[in-house]
Amino acid sequence: MLKGKTALVTGSTSGIGLGIAKALAAQGANIVLNGFGDVQGPTAEVAALGVQVAYHGADMSKPAEIEAMMQFAAERFGRVDILVNNAGIQHVARIENFPVERWDAIIAINLSSAFHATRLALPAMKAANWGRIINVASVHGLVASAEKSAYVTAKHGVVGLTKVTALENATTGVTCNAICPGWVLTPLVQKQVDAKAAALGLSDAEASSLLLGEKEPSQQFTTPEELGALAVFFCSAAGNNVRGVAWNMDGGWTAQ
Ligand code: NAD
Repeated sequence: MLKGKTALVTGSTSGIGLGIAKALAAQGANIVLNGFGDVQGPTAEVAALGVQVAYHGADMSKPAEIEAMMQFAAERFGRVDILVNNAGIQHVARIENFPVERWDAIIAINLSSAFHATRLALPAMKAANWGRIINVASVHGLVASAEKSAYVTAKHGVVGLTKVTALENATTGVTCNAICPGWVLTPLVQKQVDAKAAALGLSDAEASSLLLGEKEPSQQFTTPEELGALAVFFCSAAGNNVRGVAWNMDGGWTAQ
């Protein structure tokens, strides 16, 4: 379905981004990976799906590096047809104790990076009259939790940016939508499970179950594969007129 298209997925060396990159690759899209840590493993996993894979290590908190990455992708593949703004980090603390440096980093990586990548991707998408921008927000783009001020602020901002991007391009073939996952068991969430286990003297399974029990009625983690399938839907012809939605996949979290 996506043969001949190029997808750039930020923060795709791990977790949800890697899951979405693999789902798009399985549909034939060439992939530009981005993120920190092990690059060889994710590159091999995506290449095994029979598509071309490139990697750019831009730090998504730095606009100049985002610009270099977008240029690299255009030079390597001609243009970016599908942009998945996924890179993100978390920090948990009450507002009065929230480190200012963590606030700035979360706003830069989780919110401003999506603005920069979007503004740089749009001209080529509009010229081709086809494009898909998928912003990985969160249930925290729709509702709040205590001790996550920067994250909730950034994710609400991402949902707002999604709507504006969709509206500004509503008469073109470029769509923009957000995905709002509940708990997904990735390294980002494992850190929160570990913190709970340490604080309360619980096993990993007990801490996971407590985490889910607090918020997610299904008592199940959403998987990167399920989120990848939603991204594929947004890229399909059936998604042509799906514009500006914030689609939660959250086990009932926000239905409460
Ligand atoms: P993860 O920690 O597994 O992956 C994060 C990715 O972002 C990694 O590839 C990492 O290298 C990359 N990254 C971090 N800082 C970066 C930077 N400065 N520049 C470039 N890349 C950077 O986390 P995840 O759970 O897969 O999270 C992915 C996205 O999904 C995030 O935006 C997160 O907020 C969102 N999300 C996660 C959950 C969850 O439960 N895990 C729920 C809702 C939303």
